[in-house]
Amino acid sequence: MQKDQFFLELAVLRETFESGITRDFGWRISQLLALQKFLLECQKEIAAAVHLDFGKSAAETFLTETGYLRSEIRFALRHISSWMKPHRVSIPLIYQPSKASYSPEPYGVVLIIGAWNYPFNLSLAPLISAIAAGNCAVIKPSEHAPHSSALLAEGLSHYLDQSAIRVIEGGVEEIKELLAERFGYIFFTGSRAVGREVMHAAARHLTPLTLELGGKCPCIVEESSDLRVAARRIVWAKFLNGGQTCLAPDYVLVHEKREVELLACMREAITDFYGDDPRLSPDYPRIVNIEQFQRLENILAGSLVWSGGKSDPGERYISPTILRGVTLTSSVMQSEIFGPLLPVIAYGELSEALDIIRSEDAPLALYLFSSDQDVQDRVVRDSRSGGVCINDLLFQAAIPGLPFGGLGKSGFGAYHGKAGFDTFSFQRSVLRRPLYPDPGLRYPPYSWWKFMLLKRLVTFFQ
Ligand code: NAD
Repeated sequence: MQKDQFFLELAVLRETFESGITRDFGWRISQLLALQKFLLECQKEIAAAVHLDFGKSAAETFLTETGYLRSEIRFALRHISSWMKPHRVSIPLIYQPSKASYSPEPYGVVLIIGAWNYPFNLSLAPLISAIAAGNCAVIKPSEHAPHSSALLAEGLSHYLDQSAIRVIEGGVEEIKELLAERFGYIFFTGSRAVGREVMHAAARHLTPLTLELGGKCPCIVEESSDLRVAARRIVWAKFLNGGQTCLAPDYVLVHEKREVELLACMREAITDFYGDDPRLSPDYPRIVNIEQFQRLENILAGSLVWSGGKSDPGERYISPTILRGVTLTSSVMQSEIFGPLLPVIAYGELSEALDIIRSEDAPLALYLFSSDQDVQDRVVRDSRSGGVCINDLLFQAAIPGLPFGGLGKSGFGAYHGKAGFDTFSFQRSVLRRPLYPDPGLRYPPYSWWKFMLLKRLVTFFQ
């Protein structure tokens, strides 16, 4: 996009926000309904675009993108009027008579920067929250999913209010121009390295922001778990999206007595889901680009493959792969894998597994398979992460009532449901006081007796 046109569009959005229309309840509802219509009417085009970008199946796209987004919109539509309500607060006797309340207010024109791996979900779920909270929005989808990015730009321009919501496509150059501008709020999803740059740019304008980042999400399989179910769920969550999910289990920590059994069950699950040759499965996605493919190939080359390990650069195909003999110093354990390679590490005591998890930065998610309530409580108590899911994976991010976000290096801030509405709102306090009575006690000069009386009033009636 031409620079001049971009500034013109931003000016239009600012004007729209200043007009106050986006604060209107009716406008918010109409835009959410329009977005719902886009997701319904363009379902096939969306599935085709994601398939062209990295070979994901229509069923997976429905589950993780359009289906999820539609439920997020339904949840917002059901609750938005209660979220928007002002909150009355009680007033200490000394400040009577008065009325005090605070209400959620939109930030203005917000910037949403999406990652490529769930190209619709990661741009539109924050947009749902931003609209519900009454903001205008600029959306910058990732250039690494070009078909999805183009469809977002084209589709939203037809369905949504163009004077308030714009998609700006482009790569690093465009995003740098965008970030030089002042926004009311920045919502970024992506890698830690880029997150740092975005935070740096936000600091120049003192813009508040949310960072939804990645990391290494561990999955503990404890002695008491049902291994067949655990294996099926782990394999499903890991190889969904071709392993390119921020919330995917990055590595598995299994009790040493159950390791062999778990490995066998996981191999069986891979064959059940994707057949003997996953390359032929219509449900198995590809790696997004050749740079990412090569990064994963390098990890693979230095690892001990237990199952899978096949690849083809022409198709950017890497089969669902399980790695064994991994230690904490192996190259695969040095950073987020973000691909279909799953290291399995055995532990002896639960405390060992917890020590491994605590030695890493707090992950976005922590998973545990255990039928023992004490173990479940202990793992939740003795660990830190953005979220936890017990006896399953990923679904903590699908419940609209649960805030979704990271901690420390996996990000900060949260969204989904009410948490998203709160993220895109600030709380404005309003105090209303009558002009009378107007006792002289608070005004100088403060004589000795006045000061004593003030002290007593403040001590006993505040
Ligand atoms: P990325 O950081 O490379 O790109 C994310 C976005 O930032 C893209 O839109 C890109 O155009 C933009 N960008 C690139 N360079 C930039 C710069 N210098 N300044 C500002 N913006 C810039 O991430 P990605 O490869 O798209 O996604 C993978 C990463 O995202 C993984 O680490 C994954 O864990 C993480 N992720 C996190 C979540 C979450 O919800 N926490 C969800 C999905 C992905």
